[in-house]
Amino acid sequence: MKLYNTLSRKIEEFKPQNPEEVKIYTCGPTVYGYQHIGNYASYVYWDFLLRTLIANNYKPKRILNLTDVGHLSSDADEGEDKLEKGARREGKTVWEIAEFYANDFLNNFRALNLLEPAKITKATDYIEPDKEIVTKLIDGGFTYETEDGIYFDTAKLPTYADFAHLDLENLKAGARVEYSVEKHNPSDFAVWKFIKPGEKHDMQWQFLDRPGYPGWHLECSTIIHQELQEPIDIHTGGIDHIPVHHTNEIAQTKAAFGTDLSRFWLHCNFITIDGQKISKSLGNIYTLQDLAEHGFEPMDYKMWVLQGHYQSERNFTFDDLTAAKNRRLNWRNRIAMLLQDQAVEPTADFKKQILEQVNDNLNSAGAFAIIDNNELSLNDWNIVDELFGLNLVKDSPDVTPEQKTLLEDRATARDNKDWSKSDELRAKLEAQGITTKDTPEGQFWQYL
Ligand code: AMP
Ligand code: ZN
Repeated sequence: MKLYNTLSRKIEEFKPQNPEEVKIYTCGPTVYGYQHIGNYASYVYWDFLLRTLIANNYKPKRILNLTDVGHLSSDADEGEDKLEKGARREGKTVWEIAEFYANDFLNNFRALNLLEPAKITKATDYIEPDKEIVTKLIDGGFTYETEDGIYFDTAKLPTYADFAHLDLENLKAGARVEYSVEKHNPSDFAVWKFIKPGEKHDMQWQFLDRPGYPGWHLECSTIIHQELQEPIDIHTGGIDHIPVHHTNEIAQTKAAFGTDLSRFWLHCNFITIDGQKISKSLGNIYTLQDLAEHGFEPMDYKMWVLQGHYQSERNFTFDDLTAAKNRRLNWRNRIAMLLQDQAVEPTADFKKQILEQVNDNLNSAGAFAIIDNNELSLNDWNIVDELFGLNLVKDSPDVTPEQKTLLEDRATARDNKDWSKSDELRAKLEAQGITTKDTPEGQFWQYL
């Protein structure tokens, strides 16, 4: 398998440390609101990574983390705490907010037929080991204390800028004055925050003789240490995480344990909508629920995501979603017809051909072209379902042998430009609840 490794900025041959336990970690959502379709795209990509590893006979052990401890709305340790803000907005406690949105996320995760991780962790279950890491960082001389909390001094770690190729001098020059007042360097970040007297903060833990809570990068270093042990094989996330969040995770682990956090880093690019960033202020946030209201199933969206590449910025439109939905319907129809006629022999080397595509840095589109252009056996379709989790065989419609013949005869009549026969067969099919439509790719049919 070849994968693009952000660490080297190169496509590299992937070899796990132990094929029987490939250690993977994914930074999950902050559970303070509904996740939008851009967020879900990232989980679809990483599910496909997992399935590709399995198809190559590896056994992944994947941890997915839910950030249920409030972190701040900006990467620079300023702004409002996201969970506390959610709680105020809805008149609930932060714990209720976290539980509600975690459940919503997990329901959608399952509706997308994403493989169950070995463990789904919650940041708030790791506060004691968080404190142990902070203590190690303090003892190792990597931190300083301000009124606000314990900060990681990034100047103390010579490799800090390497991962994201940061230009620290430039960062310093561009920093706003208010950051520099308490922080020694603009890239310094909180590993533990103090709650000041009079400040309202529902989630709090006693540490260093004061109430406080962990900085938001800490949980990932802690959970990896507890559940997988660094270095892991693959760490995944969105490209937005490279310069701050992942850079800080790497720094904490290196400073606390002297080790690398992960051997491979995979980052997915962003989904835009009508060419624009998905954001509340632009009012273009779509959830899977919104897509359902437009008549699309989670699987239609998954099909759209897998048609592209995880490293490309992708622009979402309803026209393209419709095309993806139709492509998936067409694949299911092919299976329905096949189930009436199991004579098709497994395609020679089908799995090998498909793996050649997906092992090339997760080229799902290349694999999809092979599916479009070859006659597949039921066994081949089962391979497709294992690799992409699209439930094609399970969701294929039932047709009777008679309906199959009608559909085939109509396609033939159409090819022979026998319009009256084709119309007559269309009417017969319609009487049985099947609509037909002619497209440049051939006859398309669907149950009403
Ligand atoms: P968050 O809950 O904001 O931490 O986001 C959860 C995941 O979704 C992170 O890995 C982000 O990188 C990713 N993400 C956020 N916005 C988008 C987007 N528009 N397209 C693709 N991924 C995104
Ligand atoms: Zn993380």
